This record gives sequence, C-alpha cells and structure tokens, in this order.
Amino acid sequence: MSKLPDQAFRDTIGTIDGEGKRKFIFPKKPSGKFYEYRKWVSYFLLIVLIANPFIKIDGNQFMMFNILERRFNIFGFPFWPQDFYIFVLFMIVGVVFVILFTVIFGRIFCGWICPQTIFLEMVFRRIEYWIEGDRGSQIRLSKQEWNAEKIRKKGIKWTIFLLISFGIANVFLAYLIGSDTLIEMIEEGPANHMSTLIALSIFTGIFYFIFVWFREQVCIIACPYGRLQGVLLDNKSINVAYDFVRGEKEAGRAKFNKQEDRSATGKGDCIDCKQCVNVCPTGIDIRNGTQLECVNCTACIDECDLIMESVGLPKGLIRYASEDEIEKKAAFKFTPRMKGYTAILVILVGVLIGLLFLRTDVEATILRLPGQLFQHKGDNISNVFTYKIINKTNNDFKEIHFKLIGIKGTLKVVGGQMLEVPKQGMKSGTLFVEIPQYLLESDKTKLRIEVYNGDEKIETSTTTFLSPRSFD
Ligand code: SF4
Ligand code: SF4
Repeated sequence: MSKLPDQAFRDTIGTIDGEGKRKFIFPKKPSGKFYEYRKWVSYFLLIVLIANPFIKIDGNQFMMFNILERRFNIFGFPFWPQDFYIFVLFMIVGVVFVILFTVIFGRIFCGWICPQTIFLEMVFRRIEYWIEGDRGSQIRLSKQEWNAEKIRKKGIKWTIFLLISFGIANVFLAYLIGSDTLIEMIEEGPANHMSTLIALSIFTGIFYFIFVWFREQVCIIACPYGRLQGVLLDNKSINVAYDFVRGEKEAGRAKFNKQEDRSATGKGDCIDCKQCVNVCPTGIDIRNGTQLECVNCTACIDECDLIMESVGLPKGLIRYASEDEIEKKAAFKFTPRMKGYTAILVILVGVLIGLLFLRTDVEATILRLPGQLFQHKGDNISNVFTYKIINKTNNDFKEIHFKLIGIKGTLKVVGGQMLEVPKQGMKSGTLFVEIPQYLLESDKTKLRIEVYNGDEKIETSTTTFLSPRSFD
C-alpha cells in the first residue's frame, strides 16, 4: 500500500468536507452484472420484508416483535416472556452468524441484505434517478436556482418519498403491534387511535429523514455493525477490493492512451478514470483500500469492469478478494479463527434447536402462596396455592381442570373447578388442597398436580405440601 499517492483519506470520511460540513453524495447510476443480481435479491427481500407481518402459521404472525406486550413471534413460533431465554439465544445465534459471515465474507450483508441499503439503493435512489436523472443532472439540479423545473422535480420526488416512508412506517408498525391489530385500527379510523397515529407519524418522519437526508450516514456513523468491521476483518476476509498490485504495477496508475503499449511502460491497469469513485454511494475511493465507509455494494466492481472492457483490459481489477489473495496470491483458507466461530455457532444452534423442541405450548405453574404454611381442617391439613396457566396456542381452552396425583385428597379451585383460558392468553388464581393428616408422612410432601383441558392432559406440575412436624 506504500504506493498510494494521497493518504488524506485516512483523516476524513467521504461525506464530510474539509470544513466539517456534510458533503452530499450524487452517485452515478450503477449498471452491470452485480447490480442486476442485487436488483433481483432486493425484489425478493422487499417482498419478504413487507409480507412477513401478514403471513400466518397456525394463526401466529410469521414475524412479530411486540415489545410493549413482550410477545415475539419468530418464524411463526410465539415467544412469551417465559420463553425469553430462547429469544435471547436466538439473537445471540444471529449475532454469531453475522460475525462469522463478516470474518469470511466481509460486509456482504450490508451490500446485499441490509434493509437500509435495499431501501436506499434499490427503492429511493432508483426513484431519484427516474425523476432527476443520473449523477450529472442531479448535481446540476441541486446547484440551479429554484425555478419551475426544480420545484416540480423535487416536489414530485419528496411527495413519493413521503408516501413510501408512510408505507414503511405501517409495515414497521405491523411488526410491532401485529398486522391484525393494525388492520383493525385502520378500519376503525385514525380518530379512534390517536396515539397510534402519532407513533405512525413519528416513524414516517424518521424514515423520511433517513432516506431523504441522512442516507449513507446511517452506515458510516450510526450503524454499530459498521463500526465493528475494524475488529472483525483481517487480511483473509473477502471484501470488495481493488487489486492494487495489478492496478498500480511499477509505474503506478495512469490515464489511458490508445497509442501506447501499456504493458511495456510498467503502468498499472488502473486508468485513473475515477468512475469507481463517482459510482460509490458512500463517496469513497476503493483504491485507498478497505475503508469503514464501504458497504460492499459492488457498484465499483461493475463500473470498473465496464471501463476495463472498454479499454480492452481484463475485468476484475476491483473484485471480491482478500488482501492476501491480492498481495500474496494466496488462495482462500478456512482459518483457525473461522473454525472457532463455526464451532461456537454449531453448538449454539444445537442448543437452540433442543430448547425449541423442549418448549411447550402450554405452561402451568402451581406455587404455594408465599407466607402461608398450613391449616387444620378437621382431620385434614389444607394448603393454599396460586396457579398460572399460559395458553400459547391459538385454541381457546374451555375445560381446564386439575387432578391431584399419587395421594388421596381434594383440590378446590376458587371460582369454580372448570376454567377457561383464551388463546394466546393467561389465567391465574388460587386453589386449595386438603389431604387427610394420617396420609402425610413428613412435614414436606411432594405433590403432583396434573392440568387437563377436557380429557387431554396438557401439563404436570410439582410443588410441595406443608404439614405439622409431629407425625412420629
Ligand atoms: S474504475 Fe477502475 S480503472 Fe477507473 S479509476 Fe477506478 S479502479 Fe481505476
Ligand atoms: S467502495 Fe465500492 S463496494 Fe464500497 S461502497 Fe463504494 S461502490 Fe460500494
């Protein structure tokens, strides 16, 4: 890297000028093989992202993150607060997966999968190209006076952006409060749900601000994942990279001259056309090496390939490659670091699958009432318990009742022997257990209580029954 002519990029970021002001980027419209692939990936991901809250599995929303009610659905599995450990493990698996992926493939996630990039580059930016034209026209438009053309173009663009931001805010809300609730609120009218309308307006405002103004600053300044690149990437990570060995050669990069035999001059293959810089949505020069701002969007690969083709040089001057591959021509190797992360990932996924299988659809907890010991009821001893039944299914339970197992006694539920627990609901209350004193062999007897819905046993709960010590 010693051949790099200007090291000033190390002290600045591409979107801030010398005076510390925001430098608005007008990237050239990308075109090429990778851009076409990314378009198809983005169509698929956009459909998935928008459809997710409206898909149901066994009546459960496919993806839901209801933070207020602490209810989460992931791939149609409902997670209650009691299942939170599984949810946390799920998140940890996700993080380890992303780390492993980054160690091997760099920021491929940012360029191809991240919703921020997908919406900005594949939705908002494409509308912008459609209305305002390519880079040159956009720069001209931004510099020109506020005449009729500018008002019309900017007005149309900002209106469409606002409508899309409103749409995204609705989808976002469907993830948060559930699509059924959202549709119900829409049908009942915004006047009946003012707080939700305010939340919706705030979300719309945030998305509008991000996609109209803040843009690539999310990736450069705000995104924690972006900040982690420095510790995750090494010389073996595959990234969008400039082949500086080929690009600079002995004599460095130089403008293209049709008349000269480039290979004889020692000049590198980079013809210094700066098209890779013009197309970059984060405003950087990939020829300066891997940088924090690079979201691996591949636009510079496509652009450089087009240039190489037009001047008759081999493609791939910018390509997916590791630093070692470029510098030492070393083939990709599965390093001990990658093996370590893979082992951790496999273990975590195994534990997660195990927990998912062990997880029950119904949870019944029966606990002795705190502070209460026992009572004498004639020849019987009585203990008071609290019960809590959580129905995680989408079926109403109408005939919930309890059975005392392994010992003769009576069990009375306060409020009636048969209980109802609605789907995705919870019921709690009090129950008394009375056992003849002569059957109790110690002051603490293990008690098994089965919970039934009609004839179907749904859970067995164990607790302790207290009685006086004087049995001997
Ligand atoms: S597009 Fe390719 S040839 Fe042109 S400046 Fe960038 S790296 Fe060099
Ligand atoms: S350097 Fe290339 S891959 Fe990185 S953000 Fe810019 S255009 Fe995209």
